[in-house]
Formats: sequence, C-alpha cells, structure tokens
Amino acid sequence: MMFDHNFSEVVTFRKKFHAYPELAWREFWTTSQICNYLEQWGYKDLFIGKDLLKKDQRKYNPPEHLIEEAYKKALEKGAPRKYMEKMIGGFTGVVAIMDSKKPGPTIGFRGDIDALPIQEAQTEDHRPFKEGFSSKNDGVSHACGHDCHTSISLTMAHYVANNIEKLHGKFVFVFSAAEESAGGSCLAIKDLPIIDEIDYFYCYHVIPLPLRGKSFLIPNVMFQTLIEYLVKFEIIGEFETKPDNLHVNEDDVVEWVNAQIRLENSRPDIRTIDVFAAAHAINLIQAIPQPRDFAGKVCIEKFHTQLEGEIDWNVYRKKHECQFAYQIRTKSDQRAIWLQEQIVKIIKHVEDIYHVKATITGPTATNYPALTENHPNIQNAFKEAWNELGHEGNFINEQLLNIGTDDVIFILNKVDQNGGGAAYVGLAFDNQGGKINSLHIPNLDVHDQNLIDGTKAAILVLHKLLDKRQMKKRKLRDT
Ligand SMILES: [Zn+2]
Repeated sequence: MMFDHNFSEVVTFRKKFHAYPELAWREFWTTSQICNYLEQWGYKDLFIGKDLLKKDQRKYNPPEHLIEEAYKKALEKGAPRKYMEKMIGGFTGVVAIMDSKKPGPTIGFRGDIDALPIQEAQTEDHRPFKEGFSSKNDGVSHACGHDCHTSISLTMAHYVANNIEKLHGKFVFVFSAAEESAGGSCLAIKDLPIIDEIDYFYCYHVIPLPLRGKSFLIPNVMFQTLIEYLVKFEIIGEFETKPDNLHVNEDDVVEWVNAQIRLENSRPDIRTIDVFAAAHAINLIQAIPQPRDFAGKVCIEKFHTQLEGEIDWNVYRKKHECQFAYQIRTKSDQRAIWLQEQIVKIIKHVEDIYHVKATITGPTATNYPALTENHPNIQNAFKEAWNELGHEGNFINEQLLNIGTDDVIFILNKVDQNGGGAAYVGLAFDNQGGKINSLHIPNLDVHDQNLIDGTKAAILVLHKLLDKRQMKKRKLRDT
C-alpha cells in the first residue's frame, strides 16, 4: 500500500531539469539542485562529487576549459557553493542515504543525470518548446530522457523522506553522472560500502514505443557485454609493379609499356590501400551471421583515417593512419569469444590480400558485463504493482529490445554477486504516432502521464520489496 503523496511533482522536477541539461562530468547545476532538495527533505548522508570518485576513475575527461566554463555557468545560475566545492574539476553526481533505524532491507534506486550534445528541436510541435521548458543550453539536451530518471528518483527520495516514520529498512538513491560517456560514475559508486549492504537495487530507462496513450512496462530489460578493440592498418612496402602472371614479351617495348599502363590503372592506389583494407574488413565483419535473438553483434566505431602532415594536392604521402574500433556486444562470454575469433580470421585474411599490416589492441575501453536476467522478486513486484495501478497486462517482451548498455550494470552486477536482487526495468512512453522513434533525437519528449505512472509503480515496488523477507544474508552481513 502506498501513502499519500503529490506524485505530479515528478513532472515539475522533470521540466526543471529538462530546461537546463548538462553534459557528462559537467552536471554541476543539476547535482547541486538535487542536493538542495535532498537536504531540505532531511537527507544528511550525502556523498557528493569527490566523495564518490577520484580523477582516474573517470574514463572520459572533458577538456579542462569546458569543465571550468560549465562550472562558472552553474555558479552564475545560483548553484550553492557548499555543493559546488565538492565538484571542482568535474566530479559530479550524488548518492543519498536515508536510514529508518528500523530493521529491514536496504533498497537502492538509480537515476542518471547527464544530457547529450544534441540541439533540441525548436518547433511548435515539440511540446517542451511550445510549453517553454525546452533546453536553455545551446547544443545540449536531455535527448535520452535522463531528466525523467533523475525526477523519478528525486520523487521517490521525497516520498521516503516524508514517510520515513512509517517505513522500515534503509534507502539509497544514486544520482549518477556521465552515463553517456565511456564509463560513467557507477563504476566508482559500486565500491561505496553502502552498495554492499543493498538487498534490492533497481532503475528505469524510458523507452519510446507506439502505446496509443497507454502506459507499458518492460519488466526485464537485458544488457549485453561491451568489449571494445582497436584495429590499426599500416601500409607495408611497395606493390610489385610486375607480378609473375604478367606474360609480356619484353622485347616488344610498345606492348610492354601498354601492359605496364594497364597494370598501373587497374591496381589500387598504394597511398590509400590501408583504407581499402579497413573498408573490406568492416564489410566482412558486418557479414558475420547475427542470431535473431540479439545474442551477439559487432558494432564498428570510430573509423578514422588521417594523412600525416599537411594534405597537399598531388603530393605523395605514403605514411598515414587508418584505424577503426569495434565493439562486441553479446549475451554470453562464449559468444563474445567466438565473435572475436571470427574477427581475427577476417583481419588476417585482409592483411594477406591487401598486403598491409594490421594490429589489434584491446580491450581498449571499459568492459561492460552482461545482465542476463532481472531478479524475479523485483520483476514480480513490478508486474503486481503495474496491474494494481490499473495497467493490467500492459507488459512488453524485452526480447524485442536491444538498447545497448548502461554503466549502472556495474552496481547491478555487484548487488547480484553479493546475493541481492537487481533489475533494470523499461518504462515505455508513447512515441506520439511514430514521431519519436528512438532515443538520442532532437524531439524526445516523455508524456507526463507515463512519467507519473512510472513513478507510482517504482514507489509501490519499494513497498512490496520492503514487505518481502530480507534477501538471504550474505558474507558481508554475517560478519
Ligand atoms: Zn540513456
């Protein structure tokens, strides 16, 4: 059973954060606003910025001047200094703990807070623009809906604070930074001692789907591994100008010269042969059979080719770089190993036929583990809550979805390994007749009602999990 609360505040929060989106490791104003609310509501245990992570735990560091610029802007907008000081240098995000001091499970929820470098739509048919809450930060917008996750998390934290006398157990709210970068703050947050205490941890991601005004839930979103490698191609030596199969009578000078010209015209330009080799490799990698159930795939990333030094017309520059990265995304380690074997074969084959040298290095980025199954207690709690809230049977089969990965996986995995329950749940929102067909687009907008329904469900789930017996106690609790 749920206590009274003004659930529509989630919409107010969302509009506020939507209007002031900030990029990875620069969520200064956003973090300070969250801290401000939390402190007002009685949260005393706040871990802010540098309490959470050290510099070398950031996998992607934005240029210093951009961090400083965003910092100054947040101060000018009135971000309180007491919070800002903990974030100097780009250490953003906050974790809040509230203890009822009564025995019971420890429950955690995550909301990510960062935005994307995408210019928000400024057209009358885009509701945030029409209603005046679209991004005030040029070139930056909440195009992945993290403003919704932040707001749901904040509303839950408010609800818990208002009702702490009536609740039991402990509550942890994670507002994580830089989800969109190559490894967000969850990688560091997973090592906070409180994470080891968690019995249940869950989070949402909003997902646009054709819902005809209804609210749907995806109780079991699964994630694939993410392993990234880099392949570099280099030109080696010169091609033979006269291959063995060129049978020409060398005494006949005219015939010989013509044959040389034909050969010259037909062979690839040696100055860019590595680019052809890379392109061929990419084609072959993309042709590796992909199973229908998304058990694994390879994504090509960061294709890059650069002539060394200045580029001048008609100047022969043999030495240049050509490389690309590829990401293996699979549901199992075996599948990842198999894919990597196929890719190595392809690269070797390309080396031979193009007469280039290829070097594979990696894994080069943060390795994201797979999440194969949400904990049944949380899945069931969500299903019950959803039905009770009047969305009887409005569930979507997660097998159809393939939404990439998320750094919260590090916390979910840790909780799971500790014997707790972890879940990543999809909160579907109406795609407005196909207008919003994916995340990361300029006109992303989540319907208010979908947001309110999702918030209520997350809070009802919190109650249901509190009513369940504590998870089987694990080593940490025993000691
Ligand atoms: Zn996202």
